Amino acid sequence: EILADGEPHSGEDIGSRLGVSRAAVWKLVDQARRAGLDIRALPGAGYRLPAPLTLLDAGRISEALGTDVHHYRRLEVRLATGSTNQDLLQDSAPLDHPVALLAEHQSAGRGRRGRHWLSPMGASLYLSVAWPLGVPVAGLSGLSLVAGLAVAEAVDQICDLQVGLKWPNDLYVGRRKIGGILVEVSGSPEGPCKAVIGSGLNCRFPEGVEDTDIDQPWTDLYRASGIAVDRNQLAAAILAQYARDLPVFERDGFTPFVERWNRRDILLDQPVILQLGQESATGIARGVSELGALVLEENGRRRSIAGGDVSLRPDRP
Ligand code: ATP
Repeated sequence: EILADGEPHSGEDIGSRLGVSRAAVWKLVDQARRAGLDIRALPGAGYRLPAPLTLLDAGRISEALGTDVHHYRRLEVRLATGSTNQDLLQDSAPLDHPVALLAEHQSAGRGRRGRHWLSPMGASLYLSVAWPLGVPVAGLSGLSLVAGLAVAEAVDQICDLQVGLKWPNDLYVGRRKIGGILVEVSGSPEGPCKAVIGSGLNCRFPEGVEDTDIDQPWTDLYRASGIAVDRNQLAAAILAQYARDLPVFERDGFTPFVERWNRRDILLDQPVILQLGQESATGIARGVSELGALVLEENGRRRSIAGGDVSLRPDRP
């Protein structure tokens, strides 16, 4: 909080404000750096962030949500956690209303199938919601697409961008990945169930993050739009969009979202390679079906691919 203004602060000043020694300040700085916070040391002047940082704040998110705040029973911000999805999955309290959890840092952020999600401190939005849904688990195909669409539309509203989607759960600007969705579900197969919907959205990564840290082309909102976005506004826009879209999904399934999703599909009508576990398939991507499955055209014949361990890539020569 002291460094968030982007101004230099001496170790002595920080120490006296926190009531700790300079050695303890150095340890805290080291800890925050290891969590990914880009703290610069200035010889003789102390420490500073490269730019001011608006910290996540549950009060400001609630305020920005306006009357939509009533859709959520609880809205909580943590400084650090392992994974916001994991926290909500573990929460055994009965879920009558949606709850939202955000963190400044995830030490074990995850993507699909145990893949790692790079989650530096203060650099992204790590936002999970737990949503009670009166449908059986089998009826949830398409939920991660609805969530990705909601996040893309919220980002466009706030940052004036054109966020694209790659089936099933990735957000792109141009050909670079900027975010992703991870849906995890608990409940009996007959329903109702609890869906935990996590989103990771890169806002402003530290300069030190290189292409080698993420094994595919990536970007963040600052690099893509030049906007240092207020993550509280962004979180509120996403939560408001979820509150509009998820009840529609619960009632009508994925059908009402097909067109909106296909308009943002970065691989629509393009040659693609699909990795299905050990096998691969090539064809033309023809958007998504009314169940949220990928439609792949192979030699003029179309088939739907529902999900599982599937990775989709453009098929460039
Ligand atoms: P693919 O990206 O191949 O379609 P996927 O959708 O299953 O696979 P996810 O599980 O959504 O991928 O995300 C994990 C992958 O995303 C990682 O393996 C890494 O390549 C990439 N990644 C990790 N952290 C980030 C990040 N902060 N921003 C963008 N991409 C990331």
